[in-house]
Amino acid sequence: MEMVKLTIDGIQTEAPKGATILSAAKTLGIEVPSLCHLQIGAADYKNDCASCRICVVEVEGRRNLAPSCATPVYEGMNVTTNSMRVMHARKTVLELMLSDHPKDCLACSKNGECELQDLAIQFGVREVRFAGKESTYRQDISPSIIRDIDKCIMCRRCETMCNEVQTCGVLSGVNRGFEAVVAPAFEQDLSDSTCTYCGQCVAVCPVGALHEADYTWDVVRAISNPSKKVIVQIAPAVRVALGEEFGLEPGTDVTGKMVTALRKLGFDKVFDTNWAADLTIMEEGTEFKERLEKFLAGDKDVKLPLLTSCCPAWVKFFEHNYPDMLDVPSTAKSPQQMFGAVAKEIWAPEEGIKREDLVVVSVMPCLAKKYEVSREEFSKDGNPDVDISISTRELAKLLKQANIDLSKLTDGEFDNPLGASTGAADIFGRTGGVIEAATRTLYEVITGETLEAVEFEALRGWEGFRAANVKVGDLELRIGIAHGLGEARKMLDKIRAGEENFHAIEIMACKGGCIGGGGQPFHHGNESILKKRTEGINAIDAGKEMRKSHDNPFIKEIYEKHLGEPLSHKAHHLLHTKYFARKGK
Ligand code: SF4
Ligand code: SF4
Ligand code: SF4
Repeated sequence: MEMVKLTIDGIQTEAPKGATILSAAKTLGIEVPSLCHLQIGAADYKNDCASCRICVVEVEGRRNLAPSCATPVYEGMNVTTNSMRVMHARKTVLELMLSDHPKDCLACSKNGECELQDLAIQFGVREVRFAGKESTYRQDISPSIIRDIDKCIMCRRCETMCNEVQTCGVLSGVNRGFEAVVAPAFEQDLSDSTCTYCGQCVAVCPVGALHEADYTWDVVRAISNPSKKVIVQIAPAVRVALGEEFGLEPGTDVTGKMVTALRKLGFDKVFDTNWAADLTIMEEGTEFKERLEKFLAGDKDVKLPLLTSCCPAWVKFFEHNYPDMLDVPSTAKSPQQMFGAVAKEIWAPEEGIKREDLVVVSVMPCLAKKYEVSREEFSKDGNPDVDISISTRELAKLLKQANIDLSKLTDGEFDNPLGASTGAADIFGRTGGVIEAATRTLYEVITGETLEAVEFEALRGWEGFRAANVKVGDLELRIGIAHGLGEARKMLDKIRAGEENFHAIEIMACKGGCIGGGGQPFHHGNESILKKRTEGINAIDAGKEMRKSHDNPFIKEIYEKHLGEPLSHKAHHLLHTKYFARKGK
């Protein structure tokens, strides 16, 4: 790699030719502020439209200030990132932005987490000298995401994320001047577009222009209603990220503290989505085994690969983009929805609770799960299987409102029977985990032998699109894994074109899987946070006595007492679903 020598703030350094001043400064520990620039990973996501101009710096011999995110370094360059001229320019840019920005910070969803607010504090903005016309837009409210576009600063991070990383093509800049806005085509609502509700645009928006639909007060109202029983389930990825909101390191396992916290909030039972993840493996694994056997026997009606179906954003993505492949994904519901169906149709009657008196709340790392609970097929006579889905961030808010400091709590235990789980369920929270969990069970079911080494290293990793061959007895299974919808598209396009053949594929819409979900604490582009959460998940799995879903005694019990066997008529009715070809919605 060709290197160039330059000086930044009086420090001599070297940087690769073509690198930006911003990245060269970063290697020296000099953080140049920016609102539009964001990079996650080496090349996975980079927003470099240079629209905000906060990152301007002085370059010796150059008349005007240079945007450091878009100016390449050169031999002998002399850069100053913190002169009076630079600081004055940044403050003026901030004031100009604030002149066309609502001043309702105290009531904003991003209050305390807004990058614009942070910079206004950093640069000591106490007044806005420029006043005049302000842009106004209507709010766009969907089940998962609210677009509060009055607050948009046109940084275009969401657009890059949606179009280049997720390849969903929902958001783009339209109109000019005060009418300029980032919106779906024809400024239609998100719920009328092909949005998957993956929430990755929300995860990168620096201000409150994009935020989750907040259901925390629906939870408070339900818990306060004496005529309701309110139970909660928690997804695997939440337990390694929630601690970040209380000052703990990313990846810290707060499972026990979270259980105690949820009891303190007043939930009648604290259950675990992991239990339903083990159930998912029983159903999805058996479906895969059946399809595989028929496929190997030459049945032309059977389609492989089997695609995992746990991720509602991925499900909506293929319903929009691959309507010709709707019979390929597993019909197994996601763990969230399996939990809801079992809670309302099996657990509640056993406890003598009427369906309409039970409120099922889920805590998810995800914004698409909010949309998933609203899908009509996941309800009975208008009563949803899961009533309310809140994100990791919303749970943190709720705990803070209730003055519960998670970090100081002692560990509690989940309630049973819907609380016990194996390590296989824990790894659902990171990329490759669902397919690894399925392989653990499949191996024992197909070979009849005990699997001693349960960690399938070939299925682990961080590449967005990876493939591995796994030996299961005499069979060599070719498995594909993709995380991020752009990577999923690459994989599916290859399959459609007949360039790749897999027996099974796991797809998760978010980078890293659910640990990087749109409802997790903001990671501000710091990929090491995602990696630490992944390590946290793997450590929980490694510490479990039971690490295969079919060993879960409460899963065995539900089949013995209620379902018979995987894919039975009753299991089909409760635990499986169907997909729809979608155009606009
Ligand atoms: S939620 Fe996902 S698909 Fe929808 S607009 Fe945002 S990034 Fe695009
Ligand atoms: S909605 Fe947010 S991320 Fe998108 S352009 Fe506006 S401020 Fe930037
Ligand atoms: S990967 Fe997980 S967090 Fe992301 S959309 Fe899918 S289910 Fe939700």
